[in-house]
Amino acid sequence: MVTPPPLPESVQHSTAIGKHPCAECGANLEWSARKQALVCPYCGTTAPWQGAHAQTGDAIAELDLERALRDPAITRKNWGAELKEVKCQSCHAVSVFVDSRVAQRCDFCGSPAIVAHEDQGDAITPQSILPFKISDGQIRDLIKKWYRTRWFAPNRLKTAALTDTLHGIYLPYWTFDAHVDAHWRAEAGHYYYVTESYRDSSGHSQTRQVQKVRWVPASGRLRHFFDDELVPGSSGVHQQLLRAVEPFPTQTDLKPYSPEYVRGWTVERYQIGLADAAALGRRQMDSKLHTMCASQVPGDTYRNLQVHADYQGRTFKHILVPVWLVSYTYGRKTFQILANGYTGQIAGERPYSWVKIFLASLAALIVLGIVLYFMQ
Ligand SMILES: [Zn+2]
Ligand SMILES: [Zn+2]
Repeated sequence: MVTPPPLPESVQHSTAIGKHPCAECGANLEWSARKQALVCPYCGTTAPWQGAHAQTGDAIAELDLERALRDPAITRKNWGAELKEVKCQSCHAVSVFVDSRVAQRCDFCGSPAIVAHEDQGDAITPQSILPFKISDGQIRDLIKKWYRTRWFAPNRLKTAALTDTLHGIYLPYWTFDAHVDAHWRAEAGHYYYVTESYRDSSGHSQTRQVQKVRWVPASGRLRHFFDDELVPGSSGVHQQLLRAVEPFPTQTDLKPYSPEYVRGWTVERYQIGLADAAALGRRQMDSKLHTMCASQVPGDTYRNLQVHADYQGRTFKHILVPVWLVSYTYGRKTFQILANGYTGQIAGERPYSWVKIFLASLAALIVLGIVLYFMQ
């Protein structure tokens, strides 16, 4: 095992430090998923916590997208804590540690090849956060159940699922809102039936109903508000797993960002920037809009649907959402088991054990042999 070099002092960006100290021992309190409260990691003292902004009634902020793309500086504030960033040389994920010790291995792939990462100072800071709700104990129980339904999984998967380190990570997401005013045109198809006569195989004259389509031009207008179109900014977690553990209830349960939520947890730095994410979000909205317009076309079917959409009031947020992650290697590949840290939804990748499949096939053949023997 390679021991990573110590982090240079320059990585430890010092920003305004918003401490939330323990009343008993003065250490920094951390968010506990199990207790849904701030807990002192040293003496266990619990402090009630509704979020720093809950009392002041600070709403979840949406930022103007056009303005932010022109002038990203408006999106920067400080994290309210001391940050250390490391980049994994193997999977390239960038992890942020807030007021806490840097992990010795990459949380995403387990590689020890991590190096200090220089923040260019241009990163957009998170505006809001979905705090952890499901504790590591609950997740282990859910993963055990999940494992029992995996046929022909190698024992290594079971060991990893039950004993390997569960990493609690906040993943970066972008959310986009927009008011859209769309005009559409299409040809609406109406079915009608005609009676055709034909000769059957024995030469008798028969009739049958044949479906035809009458095409009529149609047009319409659709107005819609897109609320929180989610685009992941993560590169450390495999995308298809992430999509499988969604949704995260961002429309109802987000809290304004506060360093207390992330202290002691790993935060992944986004790798898909705002401009790229905005383009992806726009494509998602366009696709949904197309489906909505299609459902407005009268008749039984349609063709040549064209949508002209005007997007107004586009806003975005950079948010953090909680996941639990187990990553393990089998052969040369890294496999991940991912759980939604808010809903407990699990998705995992798994190798197949060819030894187990071979033994099961062998057992089936033996049973078949015995059955055939007694049937004689
Ligand atoms: Zn304490
Ligand atoms: Zn990695």
